Amino acid sequence: MLCAIARCGERGGLGRRGLLSRKESAAGAGIRGRARVRSAEMKPTIADGHVVTLHYRLTLDDGSIADESFGGDPLVYLHGANNIVAGLERQLTGKAAGDKCEVQVPPAEGYGDYDPTLDQTVPRSAFPADAQLQEGLAFQARDRNNQPITLWIRKIAGDEITVSPNHPMAGQNLNFSIEIQDVREATPQEKEHGHAHGPQGQDH
Ligand code: ZN
Repeated sequence: MLCAIARCGERGGLGRRGLLSRKESAAGAGIRGRARVRSAEMKPTIADGHVVTLHYRLTLDDGSIADESFGGDPLVYLHGANNIVAGLERQLTGKAAGDKCEVQVPPAEGYGDYDPTLDQTVPRSAFPADAQLQEGLAFQARDRNNQPITLWIRKIAGDEITVSPNHPMAGQNLNFSIEIQDVREATPQEKEHGHAHGPQGQDH
C-alpha cells in the first residue's frame, strides 16, 4: 500500500522528496497544472492553414491494403486546401503531433459512389499501340464537350478495355490508420500555392 502511494507520488511529481507540506504540495500541483495547459496551447493542432506530416495505412473493407506510407516517406500536406480526401481531412481537424487514430471515410466523403452506367468498353485499338495498359491506370481523355476528364482502366479482357470515370476506390469505405508526426503553421507562400513545400511536399 505504501509502495503504491510512493509510486503514485513519484509519477505525479507531488511532494516527491517528502519536503512539501500538503498545502505547498497542492500549490505546486497548481503551478504544474497551469504549465501543462500552456504547453498544450503551444502545441499546434490540425486546422486550416497548417502543414501536417503523417503516416497512413489505407485498408479496404476486404482487408487489402490499398496504400500506405509506413516504411517510406510520410505524407506532407496543407490542411484545408483539398489536398486529401474530404472525409479524412475533416476528421483530422483538431488532432496534434503524436496522435494515432483510426479514421473511417464513407464513399460520399471519399472517392464517391461507383456508378457502373458510366463505364464504357472500348477496343484496345482506341489506345496508342505502345501504351502500357494495366488495370487501375489513369489517363486523360476528353468528354463529349471536349473537356479534359480523368478515366481509369477498370478491366482488361483481351482486346476489350473497360474505362471508367469512377475512381478505382469509388464505392469503397476507406479505413485509415493514422500517425501524426508534425503539425506546423504553413508559410505565406504555401498558403498562396495551396500546397506544402519542403522535402516531402512540392519541390519547386
Ligand atoms: Zn508551391
